[in-house]
Amino acid sequence: MITLKNINKTYDMGQASLHVLKGIDLHISEGEYVSIMGASGSGKSTLLNILGILDNYDKGEYYLNNKLIKDLSEKQAAVYRNEMIGFVFQSFNLINFKNALENVALPLYYKNISRKKRNIIAMEYLDRMGLRDWAHHMPNEMSGGQKQRVAIARAIISKPQILLADEPTGALDSVTTVEMMKVLGDLNANGLTTIIVTHERSVADETKSIIHIKDGLIENIERK
Ligand code: ADP
Ligand code: MG
Repeated sequence: MITLKNINKTYDMGQASLHVLKGIDLHISEGEYVSIMGASGSGKSTLLNILGILDNYDKGEYYLNNKLIKDLSEKQAAVYRNEMIGFVFQSFNLINFKNALENVALPLYYKNISRKKRNIIAMEYLDRMGLRDWAHHMPNEMSGGQKQRVAIARAIISKPQILLADEPTGALDSVTTVEMMKVLGDLNANGLTTIIVTHERSVADETKSIIHIKDGLIENIERK
C-alpha cells in the first residue's frame, strides 16, 4: 500500500537549512498497525505529514497504492487526501464554532452530499464513537478524549484506506489514553491501515510493529 524509497526532506529557512529525513525506506501493507517512535525533533511528524500528503519531500519516491505521490498540484494532493487518508492530531484540530455533529459531517460537505444526509451519516459515526448524546455540544464543552473521538469520527467518515495519527494521545491522561488505543485498535481490527506517531512506549506497544527513527533514518523495526 505504502512504499517509500530513499525519502529525503530538508527544511530551508533563509541561510540555514535542516536535513530532517535522510533516506527513509519503508513498506507498509494494507491492514498493518504501525507506530513510529523517536526522540523529539527526530522527524516523526515530518514523515507522517509526507505520508498524509500534507507536505512535500525533496528526494526519493513515495508510492501510495502504486501511484507516485510527487510534485502534485495542491488540487491533486487534496483529491488523493480526501479519497485515501484520514488524519488525527494531538490537538484535535476541531472547528471550535461548530458542534460535534457539524465537525464530523464536514468532509461530506466537499462531496456534494445534502445537509440532511450528511447529518444522518455523521450521527452514525458519532454513535460508533459512543457520542450520540454529544452531537450538539461544542468542542469546548467536551473532554479531551471526547474531542479526540469526534476527530476520529471526522477522519474516518470518508472511509479512508489509511488512518494517520500524530501523537493522538499526547494531550490525554493515562486512562483516556487506554480508551483511545482501544478505539484505534478496533478500527485496525476492522481492516483500517493505521499509523501512529507517539513517544509513549505503552502506546506503541498496542500496535503490531514499531518503527524507530533516529537522526533522520529508520534505526530498526520491531515486529510482533
Ligand atoms: P518530531 O515530530 O519527531 O518531534 P518534526 O518532524 O516535527 O519532529 O521536526 C523535525 C525537525 O524539523 C525539528 O528540528 C523541527 O524543529 C524541524 N521542523 C519541523 N517543521 C519545520 C518547518 N515547517 N520549518 C522548519 N523546520 C521545521
Ligand atoms: Mg511531532
